[in-house]
Amino acid sequence: MATCGIKLLLVLVIISVCSVYSNPNIYGVGLPLSYVYYTKSDWGGVQSTDVRPLKTPVPYVVIHHTYIPGACSTPVECKADMRSMQNYHISMGWGDIGYNFCIGSDGGVYEGRGWDNIGIHAGPANNYSIGICLIGDWRVEEPPEAMLESTKALIETGVLNGKVSSTYKLVGHKQVMATECPGNALFNIISEWPHFSNKFTRIKN
Ligand SMILES: [Zn+2]
Repeated sequence: MATCGIKLLLVLVIISVCSVYSNPNIYGVGLPLSYVYYTKSDWGGVQSTDVRPLKTPVPYVVIHHTYIPGACSTPVECKADMRSMQNYHISMGWGDIGYNFCIGSDGGVYEGRGWDNIGIHAGPANNYSIGICLIGDWRVEEPPEAMLESTKALIETGVLNGKVSSTYKLVGHKQVMATECPGNALFNIISEWPHFSNKFTRIKN
């Protein structure tokens, strides 16, 4: 019986390990939170022409909303939004979508510039932050829970990977520059999160 139990356990371990590695889009496995991840090629993005290495781990995470485009709730809609934002940002001479990552209402995480490249999203904070954009207009309406949970899980992934400092400070875009972003409803939510900082301090670099 004991041998049988051990064999069964071994089979279960092998099955679970295989299922994790057979789906490279599931990140955060082993954490209480996980999310579906779409790379730039998954959403049909073009290659960046602005690749400047980000010094990691970064001390700041900056939260954004898009305002426009509005919320997307399926991968098809969110992928289209990613392409339109990338086109727009490239038309401004930025060489890529400005954000490091974007998140859809269904909790899907979309790769922007990723963990290792400097984004264009928050002026003076670009060189030492990860910019995460929650797709939608979150001035009045609150983002769905799945979107918020993926945001937290994504930041946690960054901490675990050594890309985000374990003592990082979380701020909203409007704390860095004169803007309404990330919208009052979203800002009120992130201001309750553990790493939220009332104060953004410029770092000379
Ligand atoms: Zn913003």
